[in-house]
Amino acid sequence: MAEIKKPTKKKQKRHTYIFVVGGVMSGVGKGVASSSIAMLLQSRGLTVTAIKIDPYINVDAGTMNPTEHGEVFVLQNGLETDQDMGNYERFLNVDIPGINYMTTGSIYQDVIKKERNLDYGGNNVEVVPHIPEEVIRRIKAAATTANADVTIIEIGGTVGEYQNILFLEAVRMMKTEAPDSVAVVMVSYLPVPSSIGEMKTKPTQTAARTLNSAGVFADFILARGPVALDKKRKEKIARFCNVRAEHVISAPDVKSVYDVPLNFEKDDLSSRICEVLNIKDVKRSNLNAWRNFVKRSKDGKDIVKIAVVGKYFNSGDFILSDVYISVLEAIKYSAYSVHLKPEIHYLSSVAFSDKKTLKQLKQYDGILIPGGFGTTGIDGKLNVIEYARKNGIPYFGICYGMQLAVLEYAKNVGKFKNASTTEIDSSADHLVIDVMHDQKEKIANGDMGGTMRLGEYKASLKKGSLVARTYGALEISERHRHRYEVNPDYVERLTEKGLVFSGTSPDRKLMEIMELPSEVHPFFVGVQFHPEFHARPLAPHPLFTAFIKASYENKK
Ligand code: GLN
Repeated sequence: MAEIKKPTKKKQKRHTYIFVVGGVMSGVGKGVASSSIAMLLQSRGLTVTAIKIDPYINVDAGTMNPTEHGEVFVLQNGLETDQDMGNYERFLNVDIPGINYMTTGSIYQDVIKKERNLDYGGNNVEVVPHIPEEVIRRIKAAATTANADVTIIEIGGTVGEYQNILFLEAVRMMKTEAPDSVAVVMVSYLPVPSSIGEMKTKPTQTAARTLNSAGVFADFILARGPVALDKKRKEKIARFCNVRAEHVISAPDVKSVYDVPLNFEKDDLSSRICEVLNIKDVKRSNLNAWRNFVKRSKDGKDIVKIAVVGKYFNSGDFILSDVYISVLEAIKYSAYSVHLKPEIHYLSSVAFSDKKTLKQLKQYDGILIPGGFGTTGIDGKLNVIEYARKNGIPYFGICYGMQLAVLEYAKNVGKFKNASTTEIDSSADHLVIDVMHDQKEKIANGDMGGTMRLGEYKASLKKGSLVARTYGALEISERHRHRYEVNPDYVERLTEKGLVFSGTSPDRKLMEIMELPSEVHPFFVGVQFHPEFHARPLAPHPLFTAFIKASYENKK
């Protein structure tokens, strides 16, 4: 008789977690540090995913002004998130699911929804433990969804902030439940005040103590600062912050964020983390592709000069390039991939409302207008587009940059007098760009959060078009974020005037891409979607690469 085999139980994966918190101040590269740690562990053959927790009440990042918050990054499923999610996708070269992003607002919203549903079975629903429990539920769900060996969880802001307490409580609860499977990294900052010229450790000591008062102890301290940490201060931090000296990692300012993981590895960070998390038998890290990318980023053979014309650059006396970070990074990856050094200039669109200023555009090899909203700087953008079109300067328009390119063409070539987009002037005679059909009701009801056309949609490309040749495909999938579209009533009339709609939704109802024929212009392309969200260091986006190549041709 054949032996009866016991069903073999599938071995359950052991999930481990790394929390990354900020000490002293925000804006010192916690996102890049988290992404770098994630990438290093991935390079050792582990499956890694990354989560961002933002402490604000906004349910997602979509309703915030970019000059307040930076870029809104759109995930594949359409969730509007913090730009750090973009860093994770770029460093890990994977698409990250929506469960990996949470805000205080989204957590409360879910808990209240469950309470209304009687899901708490008549219990008293309280801030503690129900809010941290919901945070933990989501963290574990993300780990399971990704089947991750390691899940990195970055908590926005710094440890001293009142609004972060509930997240630190979640860290404490998880660490108590499984001490060997949870590590805490505090990213701190060590200033060197110019008046004394010495690196000061006190703010870091204070931050560590604040973290401790929430019942959480750091396993690692990443010491950000203008210069490298010396031995003396490393030991001082170790002693006063209760961390092993080898776990205090020097993280001085570097020119490129892509050097950060390579620097961490000099201090053996990934091995030390594996040791703390009790992860055994990991491979040696394979960073060849990354090292090649970093090398290429430094030895471009020639410069390609790109103007990015937007309205969100100025904040008081400062320039905010973070607002378009995915676009800027996408330009860089493509330039590096063809051995060029990108020189990117940020130009405020408002300045170009006076046509006399357009002459300065002559010095640029290519012009890009990224996404945007509202009226500010529109005349300037239309003037810039007209200039690029008439002077054969490669033009790449993204989302609003595409809509305005269509509008410019309608006005100046189509001779539609008094044409506009409904977003700016709904009483114009020719609304060449109009509200999308399903958006009308949403706008009327003031239902503005997370209601645009969001996330990934397929598009069909026209055979033989510039974009079809560029993608090397006739069907693509890209991420969107818009309420307005090319008005279908004008498609035929604009096509007759020479505009080519070379990409549409598969049912041909929505215009997704416009271009000018190569006999008329070397590169004039507008896309309704945001290709920048798919550009990765190790996988540059073909449209950006085509734009960069055309720009370099133009330079020559
Ligand atoms: N404001 C435009 C719209 O809502 C474009 C949006 C964008 O550029 N992301 O359609």
